[in-house]
Amino acid sequence: MANLAIDSIKDRTFDAIVIGSGASGGWAAKEFTEKGLKTLVLERGRDVVHVKDYPTTNRYPYELEHRGEMPYADKQLNPIANRCYAYREDSAHFFVKDDEHPYIQDKAFDWIRGYQVGGKTLLWARQTQRWSEYDFEGPARDGFAVDWPIRYKDIAPWYSYVERFVGIAGNRDGLYTLPDGEFLPAYPLNAAEDHFRKSVAAHFSGRHIISARCAHLSQPQPIHIQQGRVQCQNRVLCQRGCPFGGYFSSNSSTIPWAQKTGNLTLRPYSVAHSILFDKETGKATGVKVIDANTKEELEFHAKVIFVNAAALNTNLILLNSTSERFPNGLGNDNGLLGKYIAFHNYTARISAEYDGLLQYKTDGRNPAGGGYIPNFRNVHRQETGFLRGWAAAFGASRQQLRNSDGVGEDLKSNLLNATLSNWRIHSHMMAETIPKESNWVWLDPDKKDQWGVPLLHISVDYAEDDWQRRKDYYEQMTAMYEAAGFTNIKTTDDPRRPGNDIHEMGGVRMGRDPKTSLLNSWNQLHHCKNVYVTDGACMTSTATQNPTLTYMALTARAVDHAVNELKSGNL
Ligand SMILES: Cc1cc2nc3c(=O)[nH]c(=O)nc-3n(C[C@H](O)[C@H](O)[C@H](O)COP(=O)(O)OP(=O)(O)OC[C@H]3O[C@@H](n4cnc5c(N)ncnc54)[C@H](O)[C@@H]3O)c2cc1C
Ligand code: SF4
Repeated sequence: MANLAIDSIKDRTFDAIVIGSGASGGWAAKEFTEKGLKTLVLERGRDVVHVKDYPTTNRYPYELEHRGEMPYADKQLNPIANRCYAYREDSAHFFVKDDEHPYIQDKAFDWIRGYQVGGKTLLWARQTQRWSEYDFEGPARDGFAVDWPIRYKDIAPWYSYVERFVGIAGNRDGLYTLPDGEFLPAYPLNAAEDHFRKSVAAHFSGRHIISARCAHLSQPQPIHIQQGRVQCQNRVLCQRGCPFGGYFSSNSSTIPWAQKTGNLTLRPYSVAHSILFDKETGKATGVKVIDANTKEELEFHAKVIFVNAAALNTNLILLNSTSERFPNGLGNDNGLLGKYIAFHNYTARISAEYDGLLQYKTDGRNPAGGGYIPNFRNVHRQETGFLRGWAAAFGASRQQLRNSDGVGEDLKSNLLNATLSNWRIHSHMMAETIPKESNWVWLDPDKKDQWGVPLLHISVDYAEDDWQRRKDYYEQMTAMYEAAGFTNIKTTDDPRRPGNDIHEMGGVRMGRDPKTSLLNSWNQLHHCKNVYVTDGACMTSTATQNPTLTYMALTARAVDHAVNELKSGNL
């Protein structure tokens, strides 16, 4: 809870400060407090208490004034948020409003944000896949970005550690490009999805359709019950906040867990402005904070600082942390802070129909969303004109067809006797993008927000190779659909702007060489070792997987390192 009685320097001094309480910040808080460190979590948004602050969670559709749709006036006022598929009447209160939090789009970029305790873990689609050796070796092997300073074996135990606590449903599929984890039972594919799986296995060597892996409690274990979470009820109303804790969020899991240790001070409404640096010791000493409500300026101190404000805000805070020693931002001796921003390319969809297996239908909802197609492109050899590849989501469903003709009894009977459509097949692409120096963010020298924080410029765009991957997705998916007997195949370019994949990464990348990277193999700033960055900003490359599991695993690993370094007197 907010500690409002903070008045002396002693009261404002902690062992560790964590900036941000989302996926990565929540994990930092849990790990530090469990290891006995007095930890301050600075969160710029309001508090959101699990269950209590989920106002729409049990509403019926007719209890939502606009039946879930956003009204026209809101669409006019918040065009960026409205372009996110999850911004709806039942979840809009967990999103940042465009007009309250401006930034400067030097190129069109949808920056989707959730400023509250829990960050975007209240909104995420919960897809969770591990990276593989193929992904960590990628830049060195294929000659882009810089070499990751870690390999799969370095993070594998931390994936396991995080997965056991979070609860991930999935199958052990035994794939090189998508290592297995510590899984709860998977959500099964439906009849048409399974037909596609079998068809692809029969016709295409090295390609796989698997059940999507997701952070849902399909079969809770004692560690989940201890968190107060119970079995997912398959309601698929997750973006409202789940009263069962059926999916993982900071609010249902890591933050209350950290609170139970008695070592956590959670301070909502605290905008981290910059990190304070002492050139005598060469260390960061704390964080300058603007109280979001009173605009009062405060300073908090700690031996170690974790920056987990989500990728672009983490870039912003570091760029804004200037001093005599670091005039261009904390740790930014090489001028690369804010550069090599990357993301995922979600700009393609492909649909089809299937008139087989009509004796089957679906029953209930699948919180995993259906199937997943791990990347199979350029894995064992370079086989296309572009580097790396793409993954895809895949699903099949049958729609209820209702005849609304007639009046009175006829109409009633028509509506009650719905029939089912053929299978409708759908997929969307999740392609890797290659980090490029020209994709970057920087601070406006003059314009500031209402808390006196400089506005962020964002200049990030797709490149020619992104369209090559999309063309390949259309071609390969069409071939796979045809082999499965699907008809009426339609490709659709999705006009999604960069950013709307909501997987922004980079700007503070990890690497082996301080001349070409900002962070070392433990996520410490090369030039300011008691500052760690473990959210998306640290990512050297993007792979095709949904990224959040990797941020959480890197965070747990980095906290372990930081605590050992503190004990050894190295920080
Ligand atoms: C609709 C949607 C669907 C998604 N689906 C998936 C998915 O299926 N799989 C997946 O892996 N990822 C998904 N994501 C992305 C996922 O939510 C993020 O990767 C993840 O939440 C990032 O964790 P984080 O800790 O970096 O940031 P966040 O969870 O965003 O938390 C950052 C926190 O920092 C706070 N903060 C920011 N600036 C400051 C400051 N100056 N001072 C203090 N606090 C600050 C914010 O208020 C926020 O609470 C999705 C996101 C959305 C919105
Ligand atoms: S699908 Fe599961 S996690 Fe989502 S709201 Fe329902 S019970 Fe909660």
